[in-house]
Formats: sequence, C-alpha cells, structure tokens
Amino acid sequence: MADYKIPTVTGKTGKLDVPKVEHGTMEGTGPWISKPEFQEAMNFPTDFERIEGTTTYTLVDNWKERALEKMDDLRKRYRSLQVYLDICVKCGACTDKCHYFIGTADAKNMPVARQDLLRKVYRRYFTFAGKYFPKLVGATDLTEEVIDDWYNYYHQCSQCRRCSVFCPYGIDTAEISMAAREILDHIGRGQKYCTEIMGKVHKIGNNLGLPQAALADTLEGLEEDVEWETGAKVKFPLDKKGADILLITPSADFFAEPHVDGLMGYAKVFHQAGLDWTLSSYASEGANFGMFIGSYENMRKIALRIRKAAQDLGVKRIVFGECGHAWRVAYSFLNTLAGPFDFLDPKYPVPQHVLEITWPLLQEGKLNIDKSRNDEMTLTFHDSCNIARGTRMGDKPGGQFDIPRNVIKAVCNNYVDMNQDTTHDATFCCGGGGGILTDDLMEVRVKGAQPRMEALKHVTEHHGVTHMAAICAICKSQFTKVIPYYGFTMDQIVSVHQLVSSAIVLTGQLSEDEIDDMELDYDEAKEKQLEEREAARAS
Ligand code: SF4
Ligand code: SF4
Repeated sequence: MADYKIPTVTGKTGKLDVPKVEHGTMEGTGPWISKPEFQEAMNFPTDFERIEGTTTYTLVDNWKERALEKMDDLRKRYRSLQVYLDICVKCGACTDKCHYFIGTADAKNMPVARQDLLRKVYRRYFTFAGKYFPKLVGATDLTEEVIDDWYNYYHQCSQCRRCSVFCPYGIDTAEISMAAREILDHIGRGQKYCTEIMGKVHKIGNNLGLPQAALADTLEGLEEDVEWETGAKVKFPLDKKGADILLITPSADFFAEPHVDGLMGYAKVFHQAGLDWTLSSYASEGANFGMFIGSYENMRKIALRIRKAAQDLGVKRIVFGECGHAWRVAYSFLNTLAGPFDFLDPKYPVPQHVLEITWPLLQEGKLNIDKSRNDEMTLTFHDSCNIARGTRMGDKPGGQFDIPRNVIKAVCNNYVDMNQDTTHDATFCCGGGGGILTDDLMEVRVKGAQPRMEALKHVTEHHGVTHMAAICAICKSQFTKVIPYYGFTMDQIVSVHQLVSSAIVLTGQLSEDEIDDMELDYDEAKEKQLEEREAARAS
C-alpha cells in the first residue's frame, strides 16, 4: 500500500478545481541517483562517490564552478533558454496548469515556481542586478540545498509543455527543466533511470538491452500468435536488407501489454497493404531519453543509430511506431541530429508516423475493416503531450489530433471525447513522461495522473466509456500502472493500432467460428511448444 494519500476523483465535470497552495508536500530526495559508471557511458563527469552507509552520493569536485560553467554554456548555446529566464513577468497564468501542481498542491510544482528555482541562480551570477542587488530581484546563491531542490523538483516535471500553452510569452518550462537536468548531470546528480536506460541503447540498441537473438525469437513468437489468431501468415521481418520501410518503434512494443497488440496492428496493416518493411536489431528502439536529460550529444548518438540502420539496410523510408517523445524527437529534431537523409526516397517525408500510413489506407478503403469487432468497447482518446504540443501529423494543421481520432472512429463504432479542457493542445500529461516513469517516483506519478483520471472518470460515468486509447509507449505503461489507484483496471488502456488489429480482416483470415474452434488447439500447441523449448534448453 502507498504511504501517501491517493488523490480522489469525482468524475463530476471531468475537470479538477485548483487546489489550495501548500508548501513542501513533495519535498524529498528525488529519484535514485545515477552511479559513476552509468554517468561514464553518457560521457558525463564521474569524480563523485557514494557516501558510505547511505544511498546518496557526493557531488563532483568544484561542483559549484562546474555547475555555473555549464549554465553559462547552455544559456549561450540555447538562446531560447536565456530568453525564458529573462522575460517572465510573473503574471501567474501558468500557475494552475501543471498536473503535478494540481495533484500535489506543492507550491514549487507551479510552473513559474519551478522555473524560478533555476532563474534565481541565473540572476545571481549572470545579471547585473542579481550580482549587486540580489535581494531586490530575488536572486539566490548556488548552495547544496539549492542543488537538492533542483534534483527533487526538476524530477517532478514531465516536460509536457502544457504550461507553455497558457503563458502569454510562450515560456517553455520543459526547456528550463532539461537545462537543469543537464547541469545536474555534470555535477554528479544524474538520474539512474534515464542514464541506465540510455547506456543500454548505446551498447545494444534498445532500452531493454534485448540482444538480436532474443528480439528475433520474440518476433517469431508474434508471427505464430497472429497466425493462430487469424490463420494468416503475417511476417515481422528483422534486419531485412532492401526492405522499403524501416520501422522504428519503442521496445515496449516487443513485450508489454497493450503495446505489443499495437505492434501486431502495424504488422497487419503493412501485410494487408503489401508494404515491404523491416525492423532493425541495431536500432531497435524508438525512445530517445537524451531529450529528457537535455543532452544534445546523447540524443544525437541515439538518433545516429537510426541513420546507420537505414543506410545499412538500404531502406527507402523511415516510419515511427506509437511513441510520444520518440515522434517528437523524430519529427522535430531527426534531420538536425542525424540528417541529411538524402539517401532515402524523396517521395516520402522523413520521418513518417505509422498513423500517416494507416489513415490514408483506411480512407482509400484498402484495409478490410469490420468495426463491430470492437463493439464491446466505448473508446476515448488520450492526446499524448509530446505529440500534441511538439509535433504534427499529415499535411494539415491539427493532424496530430485528428488523425488518431479518425483512425479510431474508422475501426470502432463507439467513441467519446473527454472534457475539452483536457484534450488536444490542452491535454494533461499521463504523469509518467519526461523520465518520470520509474518506480522510485511512484508518488509523483500517481498524483500527477489525477487530472487525466478525473476526465476519464467523467466520460466513464456519464458516457459509458470503457477504454482509453493512447499512441505513446510511456502513456500506456504509466496508465496501466497507476489506473488501478483510481479504481480502473489495467486492461482499460489500449493501443490505437490494437483497435486496428482487432477490426482488420486479413485476406484469407479465418472466420470467428473457425477461430473459436482453433482456440483449444492453440492453447495445447503453445503449451507443447513451450515444453519443447524448455527441453531443448535443458539439453
Ligand atoms: S510538467 Fe508540464 S505543465 Fe508541469 S511544469 Fe513541467 S512542462 Fe509545465
Ligand atoms: S505564464 Fe509565463 S510570464 Fe506568466 S508567470 Fe508563467 S512563465 Fe511567467
């Protein structure tokens, strides 16, 4: 059981009241700190060590000088950062817009207060007024207490950018949060979760550390599952040279529920449309956690794996699966990070989203769809923050909102939108984005999910919604974990391509009755196959 109070949701209107501001409700030590060996893999300083008998670490030598040096480097490198630090007029429009503030009431989780943690130090060391009249302009010395506050509260920001939508100056707290984390990375306060995961991508190619053989085995298993389910031989190709499409998808799609059902959906769409595609074992990860820690160098290193995979396999285009921040990094930065992609077919945009393949096929009637197969569900859709506020889809403004909804409505008969104050570009983050999706931040995750849970409860109770679809691996993982705290069940979260997968009728697909007849055989065959594999391993 949680040792903190689980927020309540009423479902009355779908929108929560602004909480009364409290102080220090979320004070703490922040997430687990990255060990020196994880920092080394990221090319960050490693001259710090564990304090004996504790789970914490020292800071690096001369940490203060090095932190200020990094801040100076970042404000000069990214002019937007300095502008954001300079122009806030404290109008307060952003104060009640953050899901972590709404869920925790902690004053430091108001976006402007979160920004001020860094801004006060910036003013003290990099502005005339702050140097000579610090008290007058709210400037603060950089101390170890300040560093602790940064580490704690910048890991209570999922970099979702909701606050920036409401700021009259467009100040992006996410960029300030990324800069803060990058400074922390350089003084021995990296976050274990993000750096450990990126280390695996640099070494093996995916967040899970799943090697080529295990990936091939997993994909083979999925081919068997689809064949048993439909009777059709749908391929999940790996490292296929000369394929037209390289699919880059989050590694959660290979094993987690409901992600894997989405992967089956992409494969069925490609199969039915006769598209020649492949996955890559070298670039078997869509996620790019480099963005979360604000590290351009690490983001670039991960993006370059995709370029190399595309060149080695000789593909014509790159398509991304359902992952929010992966699509943001791809849509906004892939060309800058790893371009030019002039070796790809110029007929297609670089990159493309899998929904940009599926939606035109549905419009052209090239996929045989039986919507009634999803009739046991009434769907709603969660706009993932990185997609909603950091990207587009298709060739019309707002495509990132319309295309997923259009696809859901094309494969399901029952669809309801949530309260409009919580959707489209005003969407609330799931509470687990931006490097927060780790068990050591469970309280932050549960409380941060409250605004979305309120909106979901409203449509559940007033409009009969049974399931919520998402197109982000982090949203799916976060919701399946936190949704039970609010009285829902894990299986109420679905992938959009899972809905496509259920509704699509493949050429040569068996009828429902034939499939029912096969179900027993399927279970038996699966059991037998497992026994054979066990026996083979034992020998
Ligand atoms: S979590 Fe989102 S809304 Fe909250 S401060 Fe960060 S970017 Fe702004
Ligand atoms: S809305 Fe913008 S200008 Fe106003 S307080 Fe927030 S960050 Fe500052």
